[in-house]
Amino acid sequence: MISSDIEKVLLTEEQIEQRCIELAQQIERDYEEEGTVPIIVGLLKGSIPFMAELIKRFTFPCEIDFMSVSSYDGTESIGDVRIEKDMDLSTKSRSVLVVEDIVDTGRTLAEVKKMFFNKGATDVKIVSLLDKPDRRVVDIEADYIGFTVPNEFVVGYGLDFNQKYRNLPFIGVLKPEIYE
Ligand code: 5GP
Repeated sequence: MISSDIEKVLLTEEQIEQRCIELAQQIERDYEEEGTVPIIVGLLKGSIPFMAELIKRFTFPCEIDFMSVSSYDGTESIGDVRIEKDMDLSTKSRSVLVVEDIVDTGRTLAEVKKMFFNKGATDVKIVSLLDKPDRRVVDIEADYIGFTVPNEFVVGYGLDFNQKYRNLPFIGVLKPEIYE
């Protein structure tokens, strides 16, 4: 049982579901006011459960796509992002809603945002299930945040440790003996 590796639960399935309903309503209202329909792009793999929970609440016609990026430190400490798997849809002249699991240093999202504007997107917004503001090194904020979490390594609801624990239906912190 992978749940026995968890020291504490930070966010329950019910809390996450409830917050996804609120986020989806707020996002839908905002796009309605702007009069645009975004392409919704999930960053693999961590965004999958959150994206699924969010999009089923939208009532507008959703176009969804996925991409996989890996962040790595470039020669300078500003970081950079490598596209591992690209999208199928074009984002040229479109607004984009990027779905992310967690904003940590902010490097990934800063680069992804820049990349979408370079590809001709007219607007790029970010929704992240979690935010760890204490760890930020790049000045970027998500437009929509599910929960702010303390500076601890969290797993579950899409988030992994060595590719495991993504299927946990809650967000938790691992027992130290698991990663030490
Ligand atoms: P950033 O570029 O903001 O530093 O990194 C974001 C990525 O780092 C996330 O998409 C996620 O994959 C990973 N990450 C950052 N913090 C955590 C965490 O607490 N737990 C897990 N499982 N992944 C994290």
